[in-house]
Amino acid sequence: MTEVSVAPVIVVFTDLDGTLLDHDTYGWDEALPALDLCKRLFIPIVLVSSKTRAEIDQLRLKLSISAPFISENGGGIFFPVDTTEVPPPDAFIDGDLWKWSLGLPYADLIRELDGIRDELGWNIKGFSDMRIDDISDLTGLDRGSARLAAMREFDEPFIILDQDPVDRENLRKAAAQRGLTITEGGRFFHLSGKNDKGQAMQKLMSLYKRLHGNIVSVALGDSPNDFSMLECADYPVLVRSKRNFEGLKKRIPRLMVTGEMGPKGWNTALLDILNEKQEADNV
Ligand SMILES: [Mg+2]
Repeated sequence: MTEVSVAPVIVVFTDLDGTLLDHDTYGWDEALPALDLCKRLFIPIVLVSSKTRAEIDQLRLKLSISAPFISENGGGIFFPVDTTEVPPPDAFIDGDLWKWSLGLPYADLIRELDGIRDELGWNIKGFSDMRIDDISDLTGLDRGSARLAAMREFDEPFIILDQDPVDRENLRKAAAQRGLTITEGGRFFHLSGKNDKGQAMQKLMSLYKRLHGNIVSVALGDSPNDFSMLECADYPVLVRSKRNFEGLKKRIPRLMVTGEMGPKGWNTALLDILNEKQEADNV
């Protein structure tokens, strides 16, 4: 299935913004040592993001990553055709990617967000209500990248303009009544189906295990929408951000928390884990 002829022993699942990519500049230079080491050791790096397929596909090419990737908070799993030896079971071909759909269709989510807006009477603005320039202003992305960010399939990012603080409990209830989920990333709330990053990660891990036997997983993230992924990882890493997540360590006792933010923290944590794993395997 994978791009490698050598069976991997570790699979890395990583969030992008604020984790592998700097929250403000979207750069990844400081992560290059660990990225290069993973490539040398044939360790697949699975990008897992609330970003769209169009955005991640472009980014993975820039990063020279050929592993499958997970888009829109676990809504879709995509396998590059040119590096996928055996098509994943029940996948559909979509352009030059094999696709597993786990999320709900985007049109349904937009309709439901309308319902939530009416029910709560809040000034909610979703990506579908915004012009490309608005998305560009909010994200700091250039117009071309903002256009890719607007190509949604499984998840609607939104902001709430007139509530501070936001009554999260009420928001979650309104979504839950519709069988939907609210998550929070670094910049936006997100409305999606019951899919999340953790479920998508587990689905992909099952495939890796079926093909390659006993494999361990590393997961790295910085935001609440990453916690489902951290919970099911053998090596969960919370990449430090400006936010404080008291109590997460209780929920995930084996959690590592990086000393540094973004790609710098990502790099150090991953190098430490790979060293530790190598030493343990050599004992
Ligand atoms: Mg993030």
